[in-house]
Order: sequence, then structure tokens, then C-alpha cells
Amino acid sequence: MERTFDCLVIGAGYAGAVAARELAERGGMRVLVLERRDHVGGNAYDCLDGHGVLIHKYGPHIFHTGSKRVFDYLSRFTRWRRYQHRVIANLPRDNPEVVPAHKKTDGRFCFPVPFNLDSLEAAFGKAEGSRLGEKLLAAYPAQSQVTILELRQNPDPEIAAIAEYVYEHVFVHYTMKQWGQTPEEIDPATTARVPVRLSRDDRYFQDAYQGMPLEGYTPLFQNMLDHPNITVELGVDALTRLDVSGGAVRVDGAPFAGPVIYTGQADELFGFRFGPLPYRTLDFVFETFDRQFYQTHGTVNYTVDEAYTRITEFKHLTGQRLQDPVTTIMKEYSRAYTGAAGEIPYYAIINPENNALYGRYRALAEGCGGLHLLGRLAEYKYYNMDAIVLRALELCDLLLKK
Ligand code: FAD
Ligand code: UDP
Repeated sequence: MERTFDCLVIGAGYAGAVAARELAERGGMRVLVLERRDHVGGNAYDCLDGHGVLIHKYGPHIFHTGSKRVFDYLSRFTRWRRYQHRVIANLPRDNPEVVPAHKKTDGRFCFPVPFNLDSLEAAFGKAEGSRLGEKLLAAYPAQSQVTILELRQNPDPEIAAIAEYVYEHVFVHYTMKQWGQTPEEIDPATTARVPVRLSRDDRYFQDAYQGMPLEGYTPLFQNMLDHPNITVELGVDALTRLDVSGGAVRVDGAPFAGPVIYTGQADELFGFRFGPLPYRTLDFVFETFDRQFYQTHGTVNYTVDEAYTRITEFKHLTGQRLQDPVTTIMKEYSRAYTGAAGEIPYYAIINPENNALYGRYRALAEGCGGLHLLGRLAEYKYYNMDAIVLRALELCDLLLKK
């Protein structure tokens, strides 16, 4: 191994692919990438389904970042389709009088998420919603948004009533479905991802750079990994070749001195020595319909009822045009990750206890010279794609400086 490669990268998602490219290109190193799945791209992987619709196999991925460095970096490997994600909540109507007639369908209604001044008018009626909107703006004159947990602290009775409405109709049931816990019980940074907007901006993200890779995510990864110094082996579980049990890195039974970038689960790397790290997993249910579109928006969140959290219709995201009227949607059902075969740990459950458990694995990794934990799984964090790209670039900055 040491004679053929200078470094080893485990996993071909964003963390692994960016690190591999950087070490190969900027560092001139010969890089071996081992990927357990039969494809590159990690959870951002996309492909055509049996009906020719471009789908995201592991959940809907929309690219957005405030980092020019990340955007410029990825733009080397893809062109972009202009796309700004918009999401609506779909929920049963609990106050029929105030819902405008054109928004009424089968006893349900919709409003933009993140909850904004238009959502307020849809929920409370135009006149009352508009009055309450003015009041909200006056209460937070210097802010463009406020988190639901912060809003719930407001002592004003009318603002408290808005907070209760939003909590009940946007957050509590969705969060229970997604995490099995209430918004108060989970990491506050999680609900803060979807604030209450003190404006009429109905975009899900407000970052300066937003879009979808024009040809899809998988070609982006293929381009990134297409370098003479990079060898990718698919369908290989690196843990069959990597051994860190003795506090040093061994590959194929021999000591390996080069950098090893590991982007899988930290607990699995160390044989679950301190017990498994808790995660949430998702079950995805795909459905295809013989029509151009199924719903009006890329994603519709079911914030009060239904067992699934949201429905995403890929054609809105990808802009794919097909001759035949056909479209594929995905429903997401969340549940506890058990580690059973085939399950994927999608979301780390961030809390002090789990962070402490993770810290024990991290300490073991830090004791293995040359081993680096990188990525959403390996760092046990709730990172978006852009955050991982930046983490990988910064780690490689450091390694290459050395
Ligand atoms: P991963 O993509 O998980 O890649 C890790 C890779 O390592 C995998 O391919 C895995 O097979 C491989 N691996 C693990 N162990 C081994 C082993 N032992 N041997 C070999 N290979 C191994 N981010 C956004 O910015 N926008 C979004 O809209 C968005 N939507 C999301 C929706 C869902 C449902 C989820 C779960 C995440 C979403 N994300 C989104 C986050 C995004 O998926 C992550 O930020 C990104 O995929 C993390 O990349 P990664 O390389 O760290 O991990
Ligand atoms: N959330 C919610 N209702 C919504 C949207 C989000 O309660 O309609 C909460 C929920 O706890 C969720 C979190 O906000 O897990 C973050 O939402 P986001 O859409 O960012 O989640 P992701 O796309 O990462 O699954």
C-alpha cells in the first residue's frame, strides 16, 4: 500500500472527494479512495429512476452557501442551474373562517415555511395577520428573523399567541416526527435552521450562492475524482483493510505513515468500543405519477399530521424536462437508527451526552498519528454540504502546509 499510495481516503462523499482532489492536485500525492457503496457522491448521490426521472436516492439535496470559496471550488466541477428552494407547509385547517377561499383545498391549507409575514396572513386572515405582522416587526426592529424558541420567550400576549400558533402548526409535530422529541428537547441550533422570518421572503435559504448542479450531483463528484493521482475503489468496506485498534494506523496489515482521511462513523471505526453513537435514520418512499407535476413546490412539509415529514418532487429541483408526463416524489419517514443491516445513519442526535460519547472516540482518533476524522458522520455534526466542503478544504490547507 505504502509503495503505491501516499494517502488513503475513506468515503467518496463531499468530505472524501474534496480531500482526495486537494491532496492529489495541490499536494501531488497518490490517493486511494475506498467507498463502501457502489457509487460516489455519498448521500448527495443522484441517478435516474426506472421512469427516467432524476432522483436523489438519499434525500433531497439543495445546494446553498454563503462561502465564495466553496462556491468557486465546486464551480470547477459543475455548472449550475439557478434554483431557489421554496417550501410550503400543508396542514389541516383549524379555523375555516380566516382562510382565504383560494387557499382552501379539502379542508387543508398552505403557507410558506419558514413562517413569514405572508404565512401570518394566511393563518390569521389578511387584516389581523397584517396587524400582527406590524407588531412583530416593531418587537424585533433590528432583526430579519427570530427563532421559534426565542419568540416563545416574548412576554407580550399577542406575540406569545403568534409564537404558540407557529410552535403548534409548524414545529412541534414535525419535530416530534423527525426527532421523536420536542423542540425544547433537541439542540436549539436545529430548529434555528428554520427561523420565523420578519419579512415576506419565502425562500428556504437566504445564502448568496444557491443552485443545483446542472447535470446533477453525481457528475460533479465524477469530475472531482477524475484526476490521474486518484484511484477510486467502489464496493469496498475500508474497515476490512484498515486497523486502528492498536493506537496506530495499519493498512492491509502493515503500518501506514501517510494521511488517512476517514469520513465514516467514528464509533464503527473503533468497533463500537464505548457503545454506539445515537442517530436518526430515514425511510424513503418513492412514488411516480403519470403527470407533469404532483405539487406546486419542490418540497411540501406536513407540519401537523401524516406520518411522513415532507414530500419532495425532484423535477422542481432539478428542472428536468421529460417528454412524457411523468414525475417522481419522495416521502420521508424518520425513526431511530438501530444499526440493522441496510440502515443509514442520516442525522447525529446532538446533545451533551452524545457529544461526550463522541469525544471519547475523537480522543482515540487523535491518538492515532495520521488519522483524520472528517465529515458529517466522522465528526458527528449536523453539517450541510457546503460546510463539509469548507472543512475538507481547510483540513487539506493544514496538511499541505505541514
Ligand atoms: P456522506 O455523504 O455520508 O459520505 C460518507 C461516505 O463514506 C458514504 O458514501 C459512505 O458509504 C462512505 N463510508 C462510510 N464508511 C465507510 C467504510 N467503512 N468504507 C468505505 N466507505 C465508507 N445538505 C445541504 O447542503 N443541502 C441539502 O438540501 C441537504 N439535504 C439533506 C437531506 C438529507 C435527508 C440528509 C440526510 C442530508 C442532507 N444534507 C444537505 C447534508 C448532506 O447530505 C451532507 O452535508 C453531506 O452529504 C456530507 O458529506 P460527507 O462526505 O460528510 O458524508
Ligand atoms: N422544522 C419543523 N418544521 C418544519 C421545518 C423544520 O419543525 O416545517 C424543524 C425540525 O425540527 C427540523 C429542523 O427544523 O428537524 C431543521 O429543518 P431542516 O428543513 O433544516 O431539516 P433537514 O432538511 O436538515 O432535514
